[in-house]
Amino acid sequence: MCDWIVVPRPLAEKTHQATGLFASCLLPGRGKPLRNQAVISEKGKIVYVGACTSIPAEYAKVDLQHVPVLMPGMWECHAHFFGASPKRPIDMQNMALGNPIEAGARNARALKDTLYAGFTSCVDLGGYAPELQNVIDEGLLLGPTLYGAGAAISMTGGHGDVFEVSYASARQRLSVNAPGADAGMSGVILADGLEECRKAVRLNLRRRAKIIKVLTSGGITSRDDDPMLQQFSDEELETIVSEASRMGLVCAAHAVGKAGILAAIRAGFKVIEHDSFGDDEVYEEMKKHDVMLVATITPIRSILDNEDKYPREMFEKAKVVAQAHLKAYKDAIKAGVKCAIGSDLFGGIGTVLSPGLNGGEVVYAVEAGMTPLKAIEAATANGPESLGRQGPKSGQIRVGYDADFIALSQNPLDDMEVLRSPKNITHIWKSGKLVKAPGLDPWEALDR
Ligand SMILES: [Zn+2]
Repeated sequence: MCDWIVVPRPLAEKTHQATGLFASCLLPGRGKPLRNQAVISEKGKIVYVGACTSIPAEYAKVDLQHVPVLMPGMWECHAHFFGASPKRPIDMQNMALGNPIEAGARNARALKDTLYAGFTSCVDLGGYAPELQNVIDEGLLLGPTLYGAGAAISMTGGHGDVFEVSYASARQRLSVNAPGADAGMSGVILADGLEECRKAVRLNLRRRAKIIKVLTSGGITSRDDDPMLQQFSDEELETIVSEASRMGLVCAAHAVGKAGILAAIRAGFKVIEHDSFGDDEVYEEMKKHDVMLVATITPIRSILDNEDKYPREMFEKAKVVAQAHLKAYKDAIKAGVKCAIGSDLFGGIGTVLSPGLNGGEVVYAVEAGMTPLKAIEAATANGPESLGRQGPKSGQIRVGYDADFIALSQNPLDDMEVLRSPKNITHIWKSGKLVKAPGLDPWEALDR
């Protein structure tokens, strides 16, 4: 029935366990918007998309809830569920060496805020996602579906090392081989030489990693390294890629400077994260080898706009790369490099880099030159492609795909700013189940 029911009936009154929606405007994720479409899902998968008049007989009695605008739940392709403290500086020490019990508790809130911002799937590139996903699977936590890297792999003295503490302290928590080290207890792991690199991949496999993240250049959040220089030798990078690909996993590189980007592409990485200094040569190589870009504009903008909220060294580094980073993103889009959306929100809850601020990154994609429709595609359909063979059928409203949807009060194609504010995302369904709606308590949503 194409009636305009705003609140779905309780399940007990339904004649069918399927969920039905009727969208005045449907953004399918890939492709042009469609008018007046019915979408029916069952057991977490989409079973019908099309006109109300053509609904198969078995679903003819399913109530259709009307929404003005419907699109796939978005994909956050560069998350960090570190569980950083909002009371401490936004730095590597806070991210990598915090109390893991406190981190877990904070992550419960971070997951809910990310989901309620419209992101039903997250690729965590260093953090506690594998363990959090276990608890989500138990039905005890409300959050996106997580595809975790486990610990991001760094060399000693590299971007993942914590320069603020002694080597002994960093090693105790983060090294592959140090006594007492536990790769399940941090979002970063330090590895040096071929054997340790291989072991770092295997420790992440043990945590059910869905992607392997490697830091192939220096970075901005790490105090003492140089973003322009390559980290890890070519042989170490090749070892990591060969070990990961044998297990069906793609590798994503944190790579800011050109040296680290090209080294990653040479070694067989499939995703470049950040890219502040890419040029025509880089983008030709990326296209030739089917390498995707996740540009992460959000932290650069946040650091520049909030100088007093970040450590001095981080601000100085961000200032140097900012202009180049924005230009690189524009050039990559112009060159036709395939992009997914990632906001790299590594701060604590309520900070200027808080989980839940994810939607801003889609706005920045349009500012960098994507059409609004391409930006939606980058935020939805392109997301699972960044996981290679591990990518699920998700990010599109098509039969057989995951029934993850968001309903909006306004059309983001008219104004992309709509996606920046979670309040504009009025309803969210994850695996066909309503998890956000006006008046719906998150804990109740969990128990429905
Ligand atoms: Zn990151």
